[in-house]
Amino acid sequence: MADCQETLNELHRYLDEELSAERVEEIIGHLKGCTDCQEAYEFHAVLRQSIREKAQRDEISDGFLDRLKECLGDEVMGDDPNS
Ligand SMILES: [Zn+2]
Repeated sequence: MADCQETLNELHRYLDEELSAERVEEIIGHLKGCTDCQEAYEFHAVLRQSIREKAQRDEISDGFLDRLKECLGDEVMGDDPNS
């Protein structure tokens, strides 16, 4: 059973759909029962979505992306939306 720390650690990989089916079940199971992690998940899901959309429309400058990476860590931007 995943705990909060584990869930938050795996959140980005979950959002990138890089986790195994069992792992996904554990994360989802935890999210269902934990509002804190649910909020973190929604925050990152929405953030990621809006970054993708903006990047596709070239609305994000490189400077902004760099600052974002500094704030959130490189794994957030793991796959380059421009590639
Ligand atoms: Zn939790």
